[in-house]
Amino acid sequence: MIPRSFATKIWVIIIAWMFLLLLFFGGILAKSTHDFYYGYAAEENEELTNTAASLSTYLASLPDMQNALGHFDFLGNVLKYDIVATDPSGKVVLSTSRLRNWHGFTMPTQDMQQIKQGNNISFEGSVPYLSPHIIKVALPIWKSHKIIGAVFVFEPFTHLNAVSSSVNHSIGWGLTLSFLMALPGGIFLSKKLVSPVVEMDKAVRDIATGNYGRVITLDSTQELASLGQSVNTLSEGIKLYFDQISRERHQLANILSSIEDGVLTLSPAKQIVMSNRVALEQFAPSPTAEKLTLADLPSDLSTLLEHALAQSAPSNGEFAWNDQIFSVEISLLGTEAERGLVAVWHDVTKDRRLDKMRREFVANVSHELRTPLSYLQGYTEALLDNVVQDEQQRRRYLQTILNETLRLRRLVNDILDLSRIEYGGPLEFPHENVDVSEAIENISQQISPSAQQKQVTLRLEIEPNLPQVDCGFDRLKQILLNLCENALKFSPTPSEIKLSARYQAPWVEISVTDQGPGIPEADQPLIWGRFVRGTNGRNVTGSTGLGLAIVNTLTQAYHGQVALSSMPGHGATFYVRLPAVDITE
Ligand code: ADP
Repeated sequence: MIPRSFATKIWVIIIAWMFLLLLFFGGILAKSTHDFYYGYAAEENEELTNTAASLSTYLASLPDMQNALGHFDFLGNVLKYDIVATDPSGKVVLSTSRLRNWHGFTMPTQDMQQIKQGNNISFEGSVPYLSPHIIKVALPIWKSHKIIGAVFVFEPFTHLNAVSSSVNHSIGWGLTLSFLMALPGGIFLSKKLVSPVVEMDKAVRDIATGNYGRVITLDSTQELASLGQSVNTLSEGIKLYFDQISRERHQLANILSSIEDGVLTLSPAKQIVMSNRVALEQFAPSPTAEKLTLADLPSDLSTLLEHALAQSAPSNGEFAWNDQIFSVEISLLGTEAERGLVAVWHDVTKDRRLDKMRREFVANVSHELRTPLSYLQGYTEALLDNVVQDEQQRRRYLQTILNETLRLRRLVNDILDLSRIEYGGPLEFPHENVDVSEAIENISQQISPSAQQKQVTLRLEIEPNLPQVDCGFDRLKQILLNLCENALKFSPTPSEIKLSARYQAPWVEISVTDQGPGIPEADQPLIWGRFVRGTNGRNVTGSTGLGLAIVNTLTQAYHGQVALSSMPGHGATFYVRLPAVDITE
């Protein structure tokens, strides 16, 4: 709007200036016409007075003014003037031909009074009985010191008037036309003058609305060219600056959306200004929501944030959400007057669980080691002190020492196994296409002597054409051995252990069934844990409570599943499902 009104202002100034100039020159012209007019009038007046004086003298010299009648006709034809002569009363007695009808007419009393007083009359203006504008000169006719009449000379002034009014008309028209012509010219000129300003105004407006591309093209000779150049440089600079900011913002948004930590920023007014993808996925009230409020956050987190904002101090802590534990770091943003916060949190559930497991593991291992060690210490001391005299009792003591040593050894082996499985690299879990029937036959041969000793029959039920499984051969044998040792351990004499395998897409399911006491329902969900000895295992020598934990950990490492079905008093069946190798591959 500003440039348009600016253009209008310039246009008005140009027009006003031109108008004033025209008015000034028109005035000068009118004045000179006027001066010329009055100069001419004065000259004419003098000439008329001379003519009237000559006529007055001439008429006075005649015995009778009527004698001059012929002369008057002549004068009327050759002079541009009109002349009348009157008697002393003012009655017209002679007149030039154009005023013939004035005969007998009495000249105005006012004039005649002047004449009677011997005064000359000189008048310029209009009289009702003549043309609009005249010069009138009247002189008394003196004869022998007496006034015998008057001579009136009239010169019509109309032609001069016409010239004057035509000049005035021309000036008027000239002014109007010049004014009218100046209008479009003024518009053009003002636009031309304002166009660079308009260009720059557009460019600046574009900058203000974020469109930095416009380049002002100004003729280098124009006065505003350097200002235009500066606006161009400014526009370019701002464009570069904003490009950089938007690139950085984009980068930051990418980083924030790609990190797996939750991030949000809180304004001093407790508004969540920014939250990343993870934060939205976790706490947004609906999948389409794009903003979070404090109320959407878990109460522990919002309390931490509010507290940090109130204290204006960074803080950290933990909050629970959906059975997970998150650790949050809250840092300060902005200045003391405008204090905001940024909160970053990540899932520490696994860490906490591992911490707990580690603590429990150490406690369990210490506990498990203490029992055999105290047995060993007690029995060895008794033997050394010769407390035992009886040979049979001495052998019994030595046998206990041996059993506890074996148990200790087994415990240490199992712990080592477990830690190797848990913390070992890929070498601990080779991926081979394993023939399940081969592994089962191998294990059955290995435990067959112990089974025979306990009068336990081993029965193998292996489905023909079983697909291979994706597992390590030794690892599968370890799984089977642990299950078979347990089955043997709890099998009554005589009884049977069934080892079977079948294909149940996508798994190959291996099961070990015994006819032992079975597992009480209360024990069933627990026995896969570490150092868990169920009701049956408590009195069993060499039991560590780690065998099934190893089976479970190994099976999971190969993306398999374990399961158990048991009716207390009717034996137990342990299942291990391993992914079958796709035969079509
Ligand atoms: P352990 O080394 O003591 O055998 P496991 O982890 O192998 O440890 O077994 C844990 C518990 O599960 C045992 O103490 C026992 O109570 C129960 N259990 C395991 N296998 C059987 C089974 N075949 N029959 C009955 N109970 C079993």
